Amino acid sequence: MHSAMYPGSFDPLTFGHLDIITRASDMFDEVIVGVLDNYRKIPLFSVEERVNILKEATKDMKNIKVEAFSGLIVDFARQKNCNIAIRGLRAISDYEYELQMAQTNRLLSKGSLDTIFLTTSLEYSYISSSGVKEIAYFNGDVSKCVPEFVAELIYEKYRQQKR
Ligand code: ADP
Repeated sequence: MHSAMYPGSFDPLTFGHLDIITRASDMFDEVIVGVLDNYRKIPLFSVEERVNILKEATKDMKNIKVEAFSGLIVDFARQKNCNIAIRGLRAISDYEYELQMAQTNRLLSKGSLDTIFLTTSLEYSYISSSGVKEIAYFNGDVSKCVPEFVAELIYEKYRQQKR
């Protein structure tokens, strides 16, 4: 079986992420979306919430699995018996960081984990999770950036935070 993993924070999931997941699901027998529980960042959504959002958004794609992980991507990949990581590239500004991470992961995995980059679909190239949070915090319209149910959850989070 040809499987790949797509690691990320997904805080929150955007149409840009969903586009990468959909395209990857056509290329591989199975895609494991790894939702990072990052001890260094305080996310808007807990890792459980992010996993549930991703599960809901991908429920019609039969070869997508969503799982939380913490720690190194290489360790998660080894656990899942997976030797391909997928990452998305929006602009040249992503490239430097992504290249460094891909090379580090090859080194740490002794050559067994390779990274495949999918370039963003143009209509999503401007979308970032941090941008979405900024817009939603000030009650702006994020309907072009995230699925409707995700937008509602983000607005609700900020309503709670501002109470
Ligand atoms: P990170 O994993 O760096 O915390 P994200 O969870 O936002 O960041 O993104 C996971 C992956 O998806 C990264 O490779 C990122 O470049 C990619 N990505 C994010 N937004 C988009 C987008 N709009 N189009 C394509 N790829 C994207």
